[in-house]
Amino acid sequence: MLKKGNKLYSILTGTCPKCHEESMYEDKNPYHIGNIFKMNERCSHCGTKYKIEPSFFYGAMYVSYGVGVAFAVATFIIAFVMFKATLINTFIAIIVTMIIFMPFIIRVSRNIWINFFVKYDPKAAKVNS
Ligand SMILES: [Zn+2]
Repeated sequence: MLKKGNKLYSILTGTCPKCHEESMYEDKNPYHIGNIFKMNERCSHCGTKYKIEPSFFYGAMYVSYGVGVAFAVATFIIAFVMFKATLINTFIAIIVTMIIFMPFIIRVSRNIWINFFVKYDPKAAKVNS
């Protein structure tokens, strides 16, 4: 289901939105917190510049708000509806979930944000490969 050429592939793997061949990040693991915002400047495969304009990725904060709410709602449904937890325990579960997934949410939000602006280009993927 998840193939190169699908926006979801780039969003979930953090690969270049144009060619899907290279990771945008210096360190692929978002849980190495010190490196979480370190991105390569350009794709080494197709040359796409990731930071389209200065402070481009500030926009990703709006996306992370939406992604964060989605995680909170999902946790609420799982804890409160499925496990019949009390409200206070549900609240704690939401906080814990947010903390655990925060690095993932930050990365995914950036990936979603750049995928709004850069389209997959099969020709870019073929260059050099
Ligand atoms: Zn690329």
